[in-house]
Amino acid sequence: MYDYLVVGSGLYGAIFAHEARKHGKSVLVVEKRANIAGNVYTENVEGINVHKYGAHIFHTNNKKVWNYITQFAEFNRFTNSPVANYKGELYSLPFNMYTFNKMWGVVTPEEALAKLNEQRKEIVSEPKNLEEQAISLVGRDIYEKLIKGYTEKQWGRDCKELPAFIIKRLPVRLTFDNNYFNALYQGIPVGGYTKMVANLLGGIEVRLNTDYLKNKEELDKLAHKVVYTGPIDAYFDYKLGTLEYRSVRFENELLDIPNYQGNAAVNYTDRETPFTRIIEHKWFEFGKDENGNDLPKTVISREYSSEWKKGDEPYYPVNNEKNSKLYLEYKKLADAEKKVIFGGRLGEYKYYDMDATIASVLDKCEKEFE
Ligand code: FAD
Ligand code: UDP
Repeated sequence: MYDYLVVGSGLYGAIFAHEARKHGKSVLVVEKRANIAGNVYTENVEGINVHKYGAHIFHTNNKKVWNYITQFAEFNRFTNSPVANYKGELYSLPFNMYTFNKMWGVVTPEEALAKLNEQRKEIVSEPKNLEEQAISLVGRDIYEKLIKGYTEKQWGRDCKELPAFIIKRLPVRLTFDNNYFNALYQGIPVGGYTKMVANLLGGIEVRLNTDYLKNKEELDKLAHKVVYTGPIDAYFDYKLGTLEYRSVRFENELLDIPNYQGNAAVNYTDRETPFTRIIEHKWFEFGKDENGNDLPKTVISREYSSEWKKGDEPYYPVNNEKNSKLYLEYKKLADAEKKVIFGGRLGEYKYYDMDATIASVLDKCEKEFE
């Protein structure tokens, strides 16, 4: 009999299992996929660590989280600076002096601010939707070229029908700083995320290709307690209804050229291009293999945003009122399952970045193993 059965080998499950073992507990991990690491899984293709479930850039302001995760991988100095491609015109993101110079020809911060203020005047009252919020932040020119098309593709809805808060977190800077994240610590684990998760799971028994829900009765007999990191509604067989997600489809291509776009991320911000962005994975590790040699080939992924249907891979929880209410109903059922801990992005139905996932599981471990 194990002390814990951990369902899912993503960041939440792997860290929980690691901490359990460290505290002298016995633990078994089951994972329905053929590989560990959940959505941070990276697969080596021709020396390139390909982010199979979407590009993952680690960033945090939480020193405790940073000190914890860097025990399991060395992080490189990658800084996310996406480029926007609007019908062949290239702009620097997030909105900064390079962007304003290209858009309006302004040279000084004072000139840029004057231009921004002139365009912001269009919105006179409190922004009611994403379109108004965007114009009051950066003006109509930037809204039309860099925000409208991208946002409508990503969310599958008109900008007038989307909530203002989605765009509020995008930085607007009057400096030549194109670091996308306002984070103290940022980087990519050298050698890929899978290696980092494998380090977390060192010495722990993992059964791949094992769906907990399909073998629940017999697996439950193996442990005193269960840590479940799959979708909470699936655990209860969707008996109260289905929680919604946005899904993404990735079209991956291996190209026999060394450099396709010269940057890890290029956003296609026009409405007509069907995908939202292209990721060129090698640039997360500066185009080098593990020995520091230049890689001759490249792998790119086009991202198509789509509405999620049951059976698709769930990606982004849709935290609107309807889903939040339904989640709370499931949460009541979950709280009544005394032997089960529900955790992680799917178990808690929360839009967690990696650092928030790590903070959440460490917090849970402190309570569990105190
Ligand atoms: P997951 O990684 O989803 O792990 C859950 C695991 O449980 C999976 O392996 C699944 O197969 C397994 N499982 C589910 N059901 C069962 C079952 N019945 N039986 C057995 N196993 C089961 N965060 C950042 O900080 N930076 C980024 O740049 C970033 N980019 C992202 C891009 C995308 C497209 C997405 C979707 C997320 C991104 N995130 C990013 C968030 C990040 O992926 C999550 O915070 C983190 O991976 C959550 O870990 P988790 O363990 O909770 O979930
Ligand atoms: N966004 C945009 N143009 C861009 C990049 C982002 O309009 O080139 C908007 C879009 O509405 C998106 C939001 O900013 O939903 C947040 O973008 P971010 O890349 O931070 O979101 P993520 O993809 O990480 O959820």
